[in-house]
Amino acid sequence: TYESSLAFKEFKLNGDGLIPVVVQEYKTSQVLMVAYMNEEAFDRTVETGKMTYFSRSRQSLWVKGETSGHVQYVKTLQIDCDKDTILAKVQQVGPACHTGSQSCFYTDLVKKAHDTTNPLTVFSEVYETIADRKKNPKEGSYTNYLFDKGIDKILKKCGEEATEIIIAAKNPDAEELKYEISDFLYHMMVLMAECGLEWSDIVKELAHRR
Ligand code: AMP
Ligand code: ZN
Ligand code: ZN
Ligand code: ZN
Repeated sequence: TYESSLAFKEFKLNGDGLIPVVVQEYKTSQVLMVAYMNEEAFDRTVETGKMTYFSRSRQSLWVKGETSGHVQYVKTLQIDCDKDTILAKVQQVGPACHTGSQSCFYTDLVKKAHDTTNPLTVFSEVYETIADRKKNPKEGSYTNYLFDKGIDKILKKCGEEATEIIIAAKNPDAEELKYEISDFLYHMMVLMAECGLEWSDIVKELAHRR
């Protein structure tokens, strides 16, 4: 059923005569695992449509899922620019990792510090937190206090904060204005969550008006 446009001979192999394969779930693009192929594994994969690797620990051909049943059906195989890495998009049955995890990549090594430089990121993160409070109320949360009081209380706060912006704007020092605009935007997002509006709804509307 399958045919490769390049033969294994054309690939640039690593020191062990193998080529690494990055495996992605075709629907979600989630990276599932990395494994290696020798020529036989590659040819078998192309012939059978089931991901087949060369196990470096067992030094033998390895049909993924042969013992676990967690097989991988080939959707596409691609080679990279310098022909030293294969990208496989697959339909994964069950978890890809032998630990039972969907993906082998669940251990963080490095994580960039929380990004507060991109306004869009911050807006959507604050909104997500607010929406999460609505779903999973938290003891002592001011956001939950507002949701519990209801729409009239939220609207009253939006009005108050808007008024406070006007008062703060009379002050030559912008510091106070910064706080009031932040208060306003927060309460506005509580209102959005209460009314089932998301940022995507707002930005779509704004983009549409240009
Ligand atoms: P399986 O191919 O899923 O039947 O698993 C057979 C054996 O291959 C397991 O016991 C593991 O030793 C190994 N194995 C399976 N999946 C992975 C993986 N994603 N990464 C590394 N080793 C794996
Ligand atoms: Zn390139
Ligand atoms: Zn490469
Ligand atoms: Zn794993």
